[in-house]
Order: sequence, then C-alpha cells, then structure tokens
Amino acid sequence: MALTGLDIYKQLPKKNCGECGVPTCLAFAMALAAGKAALSSCPYVSDAAKEMLDSASAPPIKKIAFGAGVELGDETVMFRHEKTFYHPTTVMIRVSDNLSAEEIAARVAEVNDLEFDRVGLHYGVEGIAVTNDSGDAAKFAAAVSVASGALAENKSMVLLTEDAAALKGALEPVAGRKPLVGSATAANFEGMVEVAKAAGVPLIVKAAGLDALAELADKVVAAGYKELVLDPVTTETSKALADLTQLRRLAIKKKFRSFGYPVLAYTSKENPLEEIVQANVYLAKYASMLVINAVKKEHVLPLLTFRVNLYTDPQKPIQVEPKLHAVGDVTPDSPVYVTTNFSLTYYTVQGEIEASKIPSYILAVDTDGTSVLTAYAAGKFEPEKVADLMEKFEVASKVNHKKVVIPGYVAVISGKLKEKSGWDVVVGPREASGIMSFAKANFGS
Ligand code: SF4
Repeated sequence: MALTGLDIYKQLPKKNCGECGVPTCLAFAMALAAGKAALSSCPYVSDAAKEMLDSASAPPIKKIAFGAGVELGDETVMFRHEKTFYHPTTVMIRVSDNLSAEEIAARVAEVNDLEFDRVGLHYGVEGIAVTNDSGDAAKFAAAVSVASGALAENKSMVLLTEDAAALKGALEPVAGRKPLVGSATAANFEGMVEVAKAAGVPLIVKAAGLDALAELADKVVAAGYKELVLDPVTTETSKALADLTQLRRLAIKKKFRSFGYPVLAYTSKENPLEEIVQANVYLAKYASMLVINAVKKEHVLPLLTFRVNLYTDPQKPIQVEPKLHAVGDVTPDSPVYVTTNFSLTYYTVQGEIEASKIPSYILAVDTDGTSVLTAYAAGKFEPEKVADLMEKFEVASKVNHKKVVIPGYVAVISGKLKEKSGWDVVVGPREASGIMSFAKANFGS
C-alpha cells in the first residue's frame, strides 16, 4: 500500500530548512505522498529512510528501458486530460521461429520499412518480438540471430520463450541489443530471473488472472529483480480490456506496487483489420507495449496514427519548424507565402500550394503552434517578427523579386511589414482553400 503523508513525515529529518523547495518537512511529506515532489530534493534524508520511502517517491508505474532507446511505463495518470501520457505504446511485430531463415529476413525487412512521415512527424514501429513457437532451443537461437542480423540498428528486440536455457542461448549473441526478454511464469521464474539479471535486461512476468500475476510479480521482486513488464495473458478483447484497465487503476489510483510496472498485450485476431481494431483497443487502454502480427503498411499506419493522436499533449499543438520551407522545385521566380508554424495551418497551406502546381516558398513563423488569427490576437504574428524572420532565412537571396504573400486574415499588418522589410506585401486569401485560384491568377504562366 502507498504511504500516507504522515508516514513519510515520520521518516524525514524535521529540520524545516526549506532546502527542498517547500517551507516545512510536513509540506514536503504531503507533496511526496501526492507524487508532486522527488525524495532526492531533501539532502538530509538518511539512507535507511530513503530505502523505506522508496515506494512512496517512486512513480506509480516504473519506467523500463530496453533496446534502441525504448522506454515503457512511467505514466502518472489514468486519463490524458488529467495531465499527459509520456511513453507511447511500443509496437513490436511478431516473428515466429517456425519461419525459415529467408522468411525471417524478409519479414524483418518489412518491419524496417514501416516508417512514415506525416504532418511533420516521423514515426514507425519499434522492432520485433521473436517467439519460440517451435519449442526448439537451437531453432530459436538461429531465428534470433537471423532476425538480429536483418534488423535495422534503430529497432529493438523482444525474445519470447518459456525455456530459460533456450533464452540464455539465444540472448548471448544479441545481448548488445539489450532486448526485453520473457516470459517468466510460476514454473520457470527462478531460471528466467537468473538469465535476465546476468544480462541486465528487463523481464516479462506472465500469469493469467490478476491475483496470480500479482503473486508472481512479488515472487520475482523477492528473487531480487525489479526490471519487469507484466503480461496478464490477453486473448479475448473484452476480458483483456477489463484486465488492462484494472492493472492501470490499481497502479495509479491505489499505488498497488505489485502492478507498478508497464503492461504488455498481444493481439489474437487473425484477420488483419480485426487485429488492428483490437490493437487500438489495447493501445487506448492501457498497454505499454503491443505485439502484433500485421506487417503491411496499410494495416500498421492507422494504429501508429492513433498512437500519435493519443500521446500528443493536447496543450502543445503539433508544430513545424519555423523556417523557410520549399514546396516543389523552387526557382528564383517562386512566390513567397507567409503563414504560422501550427501544423494544421501549415500543411493545409502546403497542400493547396502543391495543388496549384506552382513551386513556392513558405515562411513558417514561430507562433507557438497557433493558427493565424489566434497568433495575431496574441501578438505572435507581428510585422517586425515576420520581417526579422525574412532576414534570418535570407529570403532575398533565394528569389529575384521582392513580393511576399500574407494571409488575408492579417491584412492589417501589410503596411508595417512593407515598411519593416522593404518588400511589396500582397494580401492573399483568408482561407487556404482560396490559395489555388489566387496562385494561378497571380503567379501562373
Ligand atoms: S530539505 Fe529536508 S529537512 Fe529541509 S525542510 Fe525539506 S524535507 Fe525538511
């Protein structure tokens, strides 16, 4: 159970020195209990108290890192609107050791290719999960070796077997990739802990039923290992959803330490469209990592797009880099448009310019990701700022004219911008939908 503020207070030095950032030890204890302070802020807390208070100051879901920079867990809220979600659900593509070496290499090549550029973001799946479906240790080791050889350096691996000896054999040659390994069960956990501990890699703990899972997680912790990922054995979607929700609720709301780890879910549907729907359910609530079968871009893209939407902080609009962007094969005759760096605005403008088939420059002004009118109302789309940006990105050296197009909504800045920049300021359409006809009328040949 979580410690109360008073439990924590009893362990503090009671100097009331204020060095932790709050005036008294009691206030610090309350902040610690609420998860709003870090124990390390008090320089006077004893080692014994530190150990005792560890559970109170640790995040309700432990952060687990593996592979090429994958981080799971460390979430502090049930719902994104309460704060934000931090570590997007990791997506791994299953690779069975029943496949031939050629089939494994081809499947891994498809995984490497699952990279997408959308609205200024680049994203892809995080890697592969090699499964010991054959039950043969030598076959598993060979499959892991082939898969690792074919896998891009920026992707990560999960090794899945319930045979500790098979895991040891397969893990050694790829230990440098720091894979996540599993699965520890009630029957094999001592051996699995030994292998994971020796390699310094996190371990999946697997049990069907939440009581059994809590019991097994406690046993693994008692065996001296805390780098864990929980596998509640997801098969039927509604049952899995209920289990994943309970795990999150108990970890976040009740600070139930046995469930204070990231959670893994597997898809079970064979039809790829049904599988992606199922994966979306688990991604929304509350899998830290997914292992899926689908590997085709048209199936994986919707899942990754949903992930981006869910893990985008609603208080921080998606932005493009504030700079001079070229759309198409620009020439010194190309028009120059000015807009904001709010992704939705920028890409709408860019799409219309592309459709006009007149290669152009777009100067994206840093408005903290706000749209044109909001930016203007907040003083973030001022003529001085636009003129400075034109100079900073040497727009004059890119084109052989001195004409800049501003959005119709900020026509009011045209005079001042002309004065500040020395350029002719053309007032463009208010809505991006008017850009195509505007461009053809003004810049078409
Ligand atoms: S720094 Fe430590 S001793 Fe000082 S007020 Fe904070 S909790 Fe108390």
